[in-house]
Amino acid sequence: MKVVKSKIELKQEIYKAKQENKIIGFVPTMGYLHEGHLSLIREAKKECDYIVVSIFVNPKQFNSEEDLKKYPRDYERDLNLLEKEAIDLVFMPEIEEIYPEDPKIFIDMPSLTNKLCGIHRPGHFQGVLLVVLKLFHLVEPNKAYFGKKDYQQYKIIKQMVKDLDMDIEVIGCPLIREDSGIALSSRNARLSNKGYSDAQLIYRALQIAKKEWLKGETKPETLKEIIKDIIETGSLNRVEYIEIVDPENLENVKEAKEGDIIAVAVYTENVRLIDNIELNREDI
Ligand code: AMP
Repeated sequence: MKVVKSKIELKQEIYKAKQENKIIGFVPTMGYLHEGHLSLIREAKKECDYIVVSIFVNPKQFNSEEDLKKYPRDYERDLNLLEKEAIDLVFMPEIEEIYPEDPKIFIDMPSLTNKLCGIHRPGHFQGVLLVVLKLFHLVEPNKAYFGKKDYQQYKIIKQMVKDLDMDIEVIGCPLIREDSGIALSSRNARLSNKGYSDAQLIYRALQIAKKEWLKGETKPETLKEIIKDIIETGSLNRVEYIEIVDPENLENVKEAKEGDIIAVAVYTENVRLIDNIELNREDI
């Protein structure tokens, strides 16, 4: 496994891989890796023969200095985990490497970014779009892997690639949970024991709402109320939003139907956690 920090070294390695006609699979991350990230890497390994992982805590997608500062980092641990996955290349740039000067370009996709997380985190998705576009230009992957835990992000990236005719297949991978039901997230590391057990109510609430939907309840307001009540039995939980949306355009639905997504954002102990569940007839 090769670790590079500069764009020049990265491009040299990519050039070599392309010369060898390798299919390049790319997994962008912000590090502090967990099984969710590793699941994307394993998916990539099934379909590609040269795997690139980036670790970059992108300041442009944070809308609070404090959140950026507190974002967990452990590069040594990350590299050990990646070594075990036997990937080919890790790109770990410093901030100045990616942003040698403040970029003048501004990328947006209002119909998808002005919803859900985008309402509550102004500038977040513009920062995501910018860094992913830059990384795509540098890595030139054939396929790129994103987790459906960040469902809105996945849809936005997929749309960007389509709109800009980029020759990259964007693949959405399943959300990975702990046995407790908590969606794996690097931010979970910031929770206390009590925060951790309160955070478990998030998925439990989503499951109960899905069961109610399976029994015939289709009114978004009723389902949302059920979820809010359950989540807020945890004294450390504060709901930011609960929405039931169409999986394609992320518009709020008037009646919950098969395939729709219930998406939530909750602050637990001031740590922002997101989760979602698809309304389908699969086991929960
Ligand atoms: P992050 O490091 O949080 O920016 O995440 C990097 C990638 O890993 C993104 O595509 C995320 O959607 C994905 N990811 C993070 N957590 C999970 C999870 N629990 N299950 C599946 N994918 C995840």
